[in-house]
Amino acid sequence: MLRTFKIEKHHTDIVSKSTLFKALKYLDRKKIETPFLLIDREKVKEKASLIGQNIRNSKVFYAVKANPDIEVIKLADKLGMGFEIASEGELKLLSSIGVKPERIITSNPVKTFKFLKAAASYGLNYFAYDSEEEVNKMAGLLPGCSVYVRLSVPNEGSEWPLNKKFGVEINQAAELLSYAGEKGLRPVGITFHVGSQCTNIYNWNSALDKAKVLWDIAEKKGIKLNLLNIGGGYPIKYTKNVVDVDAIEKNVDRLIREKFQRDVKVFIEPGRAVIGDAGIFVASVIGKTNRGDDNWLHIDVGVFSGLMESIGGITYSYIIEASRQARHKRKWILAGPSCDSFDVIDKNVNLPEPEIGGLMLILSSGAYTISYASKFNGFSIPKTVLI
Ligand SMILES: *Cc1c(COP(=O)(O)O)cnc(C)c1O
Repeated sequence: MLRTFKIEKHHTDIVSKSTLFKALKYLDRKKIETPFLLIDREKVKEKASLIGQNIRNSKVFYAVKANPDIEVIKLADKLGMGFEIASEGELKLLSSIGVKPERIITSNPVKTFKFLKAAASYGLNYFAYDSEEEVNKMAGLLPGCSVYVRLSVPNEGSEWPLNKKFGVEINQAAELLSYAGEKGLRPVGITFHVGSQCTNIYNWNSALDKAKVLWDIAEKKGIKLNLLNIGGGYPIKYTKNVVDVDAIEKNVDRLIREKFQRDVKVFIEPGRAVIGDAGIFVASVIGKTNRGDDNWLHIDVGVFSGLMESIGGITYSYIIEASRQARHKRKWILAGPSCDSFDVIDKNVNLPEPEIGGLMLILSSGAYTISYASKFNGFSIPKTVLI
């Protein structure tokens, strides 16, 4: 059976034609068991060769939390990326395929003892921190390791802000750099995160302005820094156009050249931008009805089994399989399969009426989906398939 889908012009602005074509070809197989996540290898490859291209003296570390599927990790490894991790579980994944410690960094400012011990025995060297207590922990387990302080920076215009938890202001950061030195660690640099899915290019300007002030204060204190870790945050397209990685990087590169010495090392930690737009979730329609004035559409993947970010600000684009009923578009509330009322993916989806059992494709869903999925209510964690 050949399947046909209601593909509209704007869909191919969101996800590339070649990724979509590959996915459709895969779906022409006889037996499809939803839900699952398709990842286009070529797209990941393309992103990997693009990211870091326009920032001199930079190294890219894939933020494993975006999608820790072992095949994705193997692909990133093959493409020569480094890795940014936060836990012993993520370290175990990397050690299982023999990634060298020099290619792994940790930007989680507060780490468990279990992870610090594993990191020490594996030989990791680069760590973020934003407190004295973290320095004390590391001084005990990882004497002499290289550390960079997490600076708090504006996250305005990021669809998934990350500044409410970590990062300190300039003066405290300066004291922490000195403190790390006193405790026998090597204070080597500064890190920040402009917020995930950051569509505001000026966030990098304000972040680098702040980093420069801190850099100079450190220098006056006799601490010579050499590393700027600009974190993640590069955006992808979900429903509309976003600023290009190229444009962000050219701007960042220019600012770094203006403000910092020539030999500054730059680390970049992209997660979403590496894997997000390479992914298409495949789900099935399992129910539809109207309740009061609302049209409800139920599918077999939801907030708890992969689409967690939908409750925190991410809106996806959807393609449905063509059906006999499909004529005019209607507004639907899109819900997942569990019995929890939080399990509502989108309250405002404009779609022609799909058939029960028909497929639904959820675009740009390669990042922060499976990694968030739980088995809540007995639904299994969707599989990832690389194509
Ligand atoms: C999550 C995270 C990243 C990746 O962020 P993206 O927005 O997915 O690029 C990078 N660095 C740190 C410290 C993170 O916590």
